Amino acid sequence: MRRLPIFLLVDVSESMVGEPLYKLEEGIGAVVSTLRKDPYALETAYLSVIVFAGRPRTIIPLTELFAFHPPELPVGGGTALGAALDHLMSEIDRTVVTTTPDRKGDWKPIVFLLTDGAPTDDVSGAADRWNRSYRTRVNLVAVSIGGGADHALLKRLTDEVMVFNDAAPDAFARFIRWISMSIVSQSRSVSAGHGDRVSLAKPEADLIVPVSPGGGAGPFDGVDDRFAVFVGRCARNRLPYVVKFERHLGRFETQDPKLASLLETRSYLLNTAVPVKNSYFDLSEEGRSGHAVSSDQLVGQPPCPHCGARFGMAVCGCGGIHCVSGEGAQTCPWCGKTGQYAAAEAGSGFDIGRGRG
Ligand SMILES: [Zn+2]
Ligand SMILES: [Zn+2]
Repeated sequence: MRRLPIFLLVDVSESMVGEPLYKLEEGIGAVVSTLRKDPYALETAYLSVIVFAGRPRTIIPLTELFAFHPPELPVGGGTALGAALDHLMSEIDRTVVTTTPDRKGDWKPIVFLLTDGAPTDDVSGAADRWNRSYRTRVNLVAVSIGGGADHALLKRLTDEVMVFNDAAPDAFARFIRWISMSIVSQSRSVSAGHGDRVSLAKPEADLIVPVSPGGGAGPFDGVDDRFAVFVGRCARNRLPYVVKFERHLGRFETQDPKLASLLETRSYLLNTAVPVKNSYFDLSEEGRSGHAVSSDQLVGQPPCPHCGARFGMAVCGCGGIHCVSGEGAQTCPWCGKTGQYAAAEAGSGFDIGRGRG
């Protein structure tokens, strides 16, 4: 039996925390149950899930549909796309059966790359390796979630670059349906002997937009820096959590993008604070990002998502973010030092180290 290998290469960086990741988790389950109902897909499609943030990890190796259990998606810091591509290529080498003169190998694999941010590592080496040895024998579909990815870079890897408009009504459910239908369509196409070109389902116009050729500027381009994310540790159980603020564009609405960027006020509104596991550190790049946001720009104070302490954004002298329940002495779960904590006074903004997103 010739298999149709499908790799989901999913960005699980901090900016995806909260609703996007929950929806994707649900979505992978939905993809699998749709595919199980299709006789062609059931017979040929094998699915693998690889996640990446600062580091990549295979969480589900290539698995036949009936044995596939949808995974919980972890979270990490960073968007190391170069490292993720290298990992993907090794996985392809390791698991995809190539055709030789005396053996029919697997069908041409499809990779759905889902990412929402610009890479934080150097992608050029991996991109060259991809173009040299993989591009013609793997169908790569690169999806920029919310238009926040580096489209010019994705264009260097594949002709199939699309923008998923995650603000469209019912966006994630419809997006997942599109992925399922595309896999069904490709499994029919390989069963009919046309496996070479990827045969994607027709995208809905408000949901999935091809990036314009040449220019690389998609309709949602330039939405960089959409989030400010922070990693805290609970002072009680020492487990990490991610606090995500969403950039708020000031009240000046204008059609002129230059004018808009001048008038833009840089503040970030609290979006969510979610507990994460210690696997966060395994998937994150070493060291802090070196970028900071002033506390003045952050609007909203989350409680600790682990222990419920009132303030989830206390900052120790070491730079570590953690929870406190009020003013007074407190031990920092990052450096172990005990210090006195007081509320920051209005206008006395101080810098808080932000994650890589
Ligand atoms: Zn706590
Ligand atoms: Zn500390």
